[in-house]
Amino acid sequence: MDTDIIRVPVDLSDRGYEIYIGSGLLRKTASFVQAATELTHAVVITDSNLKTTHAQIVAENLAQSGITCDLLTIPAGESSKSLRILEELWGELLEIKADRRTVVIAVGGGVVGDLAGFVAATYTRGLPLIQVPTTLLAQVDSSVGGKVGINLPRAKNMVGSFWQPTGVVIDPLVLHTLPDREYQAGLAEVIKYGVIMDDEFFTMLENHVAEIHARDPEILANIISRCCQLKAHVVENDERETTGLRAILNYGHTFCHAFETVTGYGRFLHGEAVSIGMMCAARLAAMLDRVDEAMIARQESLLRACKLPVAVSDLDTEALLEAMQHDKKVEHGKLRFVLPIKLGHVELVNDVPLELVRQALSAPGTSPGS
Ligand code: NAD
Repeated sequence: MDTDIIRVPVDLSDRGYEIYIGSGLLRKTASFVQAATELTHAVVITDSNLKTTHAQIVAENLAQSGITCDLLTIPAGESSKSLRILEELWGELLEIKADRRTVVIAVGGGVVGDLAGFVAATYTRGLPLIQVPTTLLAQVDSSVGGKVGINLPRAKNMVGSFWQPTGVVIDPLVLHTLPDREYQAGLAEVIKYGVIMDDEFFTMLENHVAEIHARDPEILANIISRCCQLKAHVVENDERETTGLRAILNYGHTFCHAFETVTGYGRFLHGEAVSIGMMCAARLAAMLDRVDEAMIARQESLLRACKLPVAVSDLDTEALLEAMQHDKKVEHGKLRFVLPIKLGHVELVNDVPLELVRQALSAPGTSPGS
C-alpha cells in the first residue's frame, strides 16, 4: 500500500477498523472498501451538493473495479436527518434489492454520515458501512466512533445507535471545495482536541495557522490523523459513553447546544457554536479557580486566528439556561460540565452552581464574526 497513506487503527476487537488518510484516496476508494469487507454490491449515499462531484468519483471508481453500485441522494442540510428521509432511503434500498451483503458507503459531511450510518445499522438489522467523510468536521469527528442517527422535530440526535464502520477513507483534498465557513467550523473541533487532550498538538496548530488557512494537504493530513488518533483512543476506552471518558469530547457542547436551540439552529454552524461554547466553559473553569487567564487567552487567540466567533451578546441568558436543562447530557436535572484544568486536560465537573453558569453566559463579548 502507498507509503503516503496514514493508517489509524481503531481497536475495538471484532468491531475494530482502519482509518486511511491520504491525498487522492477518493479515487481509490474501491481498494480500501475491498480491503475492509467482502463485497459485490455497494450503495453510495450522498447529498445533493456532492452527487456529481465527490460521490460520483467514488461511484465511478467502484464501477471500474467491477462492483455493482447504486447512488442514492438526499437533500443537503440538517433537515435530512429525519424519519421521513430515513424511510425514503429504506424504501429505495428495498427497490434496488439491497441485501445483507450490500455495503453502504457514506460520502459526505456529518449529515450524510449520521443518516447513512443509521440506514446501515437498521436495514436488514445491519449492513457493513464505509465512511468517506468530506467535511473537516466529519473527517476529524463524526465519521469515527460509530454514533449514527437522526433528529426528532424537537430534539437533535435523539434516535440512533452505535454502529461502527468497517473502514473510513479520508482524502484531505476534498476539503478544497468546502465553503470557508464550513471549513472554519470544522477547525473548532480540531482546536477542541488540543484543549482537551493534547497541548503539543494545540501548540502545533498555533504555529501553522497560515498553512491551515491555505488548506495545505500535508498539514491537513497531519491534523486529521492526530484528531482521529485521539478520537480512536477515546472510543476504544469508552465506546458507548459509559465510563465518562467519551464525555470529554463534549467540551463546550452544553453551552453550544443551548446556543443552537435558542437560535433555532439557523444562525450558527455547529462548530461556531462549539467555539463560543468552549470560551464559556473556559470562563466557567476560571470562575471555579480551575484554570488561569493565560489558558483562556491562548484558546481565544487560536479560535480567533481561525476566524471563529468567541462570544455572543444578544441572546437571552435565561432562555439559554432553560435550554441547558433539556440537554440530553443532563443527568437527573444536574448540570454537568467538561472543564479544563490546563491546556490538554479536562475533567467532568458535577453540580456547578447555576449562578456561575449564568455569569459565564453573560460575560462581556463581541458578536460572532467580529
Ligand atoms: P453537513 O453534512 O451538513 O455538511 C455541510 C455542508 O457542506 C453541506 O451543504 C454539504 O453538502 C457540504 N459539503 C460537504 N462536503 C463538501 C465538500 N467537500 N465540498 C463542498 N461542499 C461540501 O455538515 P457537517 O458539519 O459535516 O456535519 C454536521 C452533522 O454532523 C450534524 O448533524 C451533527 O449532529 C453531526 N455530528 C455527528 C457526530 C457523530 O459522532 N456522529 C459528531 C459531530 C457531529
